[in-house]
Amino acid sequence: MKIDLNLTPMDQWIEGVKLPLIIGGPCSAESEEQVCATAKLIKEHTDIQILRSGIWKPRTRPGSFEGIGVKGLQWLNKAKEETGLLTATEVATPEHVELALKYEIDILWVGARTTVNPFSVQAVADALKGVDVPVLVKNPINPDLALWIGALERINGAGVTKLGGIHRGFSAATGSKYRNDPTWSIAIELKRLIPDLPIVCDPSHIAGNRDLIEPITQKAFDLQMEGVMIESHLDPDNALSDAKQQITPQRLGEILNDVVIRHGESDNTDFEIKLKELRSDIDKIDAELIETLAQRMKIAEKIAEHKKDNEITILQPGRYDEIMENRVAQGKKVDLKESFVHDLYELIHDNSIKRQTAIMNGEG
Ligand code: PEP
Ligand code: MN
Repeated sequence: MKIDLNLTPMDQWIEGVKLPLIIGGPCSAESEEQVCATAKLIKEHTDIQILRSGIWKPRTRPGSFEGIGVKGLQWLNKAKEETGLLTATEVATPEHVELALKYEIDILWVGARTTVNPFSVQAVADALKGVDVPVLVKNPINPDLALWIGALERINGAGVTKLGGIHRGFSAATGSKYRNDPTWSIAIELKRLIPDLPIVCDPSHIAGNRDLIEPITQKAFDLQMEGVMIESHLDPDNALSDAKQQITPQRLGEILNDVVIRHGESDNTDFEIKLKELRSDIDKIDAELIETLAQRMKIAEKIAEHKKDNEITILQPGRYDEIMENRVAQGKKVDLKESFVHDLYELIHDNSIKRQTAIMNGEG
């Protein structure tokens, strides 16, 4: 079911700001010199219009750099004065909102550690009542789409219509190449449920290291996300927070130059005709697939009846192993990835067991 939010299109958020919305700047404001010098380099090496900087840093463990506090807002204003860049910062409490508004920060965002807590989100939402400022809501740390949507609903409920999401990935298992697993499907599902909600990707917090920022940025644009937020520091190795993932403004300029922004639609009719043809092929195959799955389920039901009559258990693990091995091998021959065939058959088998259980218990 679609979710109805009252949204202002992103191109009407701030006059003169171009889309895709590109935000760059340090993870944290550390000193006036660092904020202003980074802003100048960003201005020099990129077309970015919005400077980010964390002032209050929610850290997982105490003892690391927890942000410079309100004086950082003055540094952001100084950088704005010197470069013309608009400013963005994270807010986590009503007091943060009040101060950020007092210092006329242009865009606010709610961090991943705040989105997980509906009480905190509601407190921030209440502080935003009657204020016309764009707000971006990061996904919660855990892969819980409902929690992300809930936060967006609370902020929108307070009357904020210049609202978007930030996809910053989800707590990853140890051993993952990402700091936070992108699990793109969650961002795609959010877009399906709220098509008008702009989503900005945060490759820095997904990557956790410099090497992955470019491919993640490219992927975000390929998925037609409305923007990116990338951490950039004049001296990344010596940054007080997230040093490993920050890049120099020079490197940021190169990445933004190298990524290709493909179009979502085309005015080339040959392209459109060919695309229509291919899509109609897919539709036909999908109809056959559904029909085949239904037939398979009917046979599974017959097997259940047969097992019931003969008092045999539903699950025979040997058979399951045999199916899995055999289908994965068949898949390999036609270039289907092992993990794909495996996951698919897990789903099919699981559903078939559920159906058979219902029949066995006379609920069929
Ligand atoms: C940040 O943007 O610096 C930050 C703290 O990110 P997140 O809330 O995504 O962890
Ligand atoms: Mn950071």
